[in-house]
Amino acid sequence: MHNRLNMIGPWLRRRLGTKVSKIGLNLNLGCPIEQMGQRCLYCSPLASGKSGEPGSISRQLHPITCKGQNERLWLAYFQAHTSTNASASYLRPYFYEAAFYPGIRGIIISTRPDCLSHEHWRLLAELRRQGLLCWLELGLQSAHDHTLELIGRGHNVRCFAQALRSAQDLDIPVVAHVILGLPGEDIRHTNFTASWLAEQNIWGVKLHSLMVLKDTGLEKMWREGRFIPWTLEQWISACAAFVSRLPDSVTIHRLSADPGPEQCLAPAWIKHKANALNMLGNFMEKNNITQGREF
Ligand code: SF4
Repeated sequence: MHNRLNMIGPWLRRRLGTKVSKIGLNLNLGCPIEQMGQRCLYCSPLASGKSGEPGSISRQLHPITCKGQNERLWLAYFQAHTSTNASASYLRPYFYEAAFYPGIRGIIISTRPDCLSHEHWRLLAELRRQGLLCWLELGLQSAHDHTLELIGRGHNVRCFAQALRSAQDLDIPVVAHVILGLPGEDIRHTNFTASWLAEQNIWGVKLHSLMVLKDTGLEKMWREGRFIPWTLEQWISACAAFVSRLPDSVTIHRLSADPGPEQCLAPAWIKHKANALNMLGNFMEKNNITQGREF
């Protein structure tokens, strides 16, 4: 399947000439939505911050200096919760320490589109000028405002588009996070989201498949029969159609989520990621689907 998609792994290897891995960093910043006493419908307090234990940057980055790890290059990935949920002056020393740690070749910052001030943009532009690989991961989830409202994202599509424009003006690549299988959505909705992102000249896309996690609003909807997770076949068709609508220059960072087995209640197929990806590959092969075919 990978010869049909512009996956980020091979892209990084071509760019840096060797194997590149990410190391997740956690600044324990929480998220503005949680701080207002809410949560996105599908978000579990355990799952949203699973990038390793918070601690000093050097302690979190220490594993990359251990024996056998120096054969590859690393990207510092500020992944947990909302990584700009603090002032730029607070974040600066953490971002710089990570960016210039031995073995680190780049920095990735994952955040919400409504959590970026002028000062954050200045800091990101500064990091970008250091000659490091640097990109921003922004949650979109869906290009439909009614879905964003239903899942309680707390921002709309316009907010994402504005953040994307700001990043593009500063030449900062953006990876959009999108969820396939959101309540009320079918393949027509996800096709629209893919085409919309392609029109916005997105640099990268990270796809998640919606799963029902314990202690979430989605669990309640599912138990009450108000939400039915997509079948594996639905996900395969939608995922293949999604990537076919993206130009082949767009980097694909993930096709399906990695569920924590104790937290994930449904759908059952999602727990067998390798099998799902294998079936997706067979489907794309059989139907001659490649990234960009429908762009
Ligand atoms: S999904 Fe992200 S933005 Fe939504 S509540 Fe969880 S941590 Fe916050």
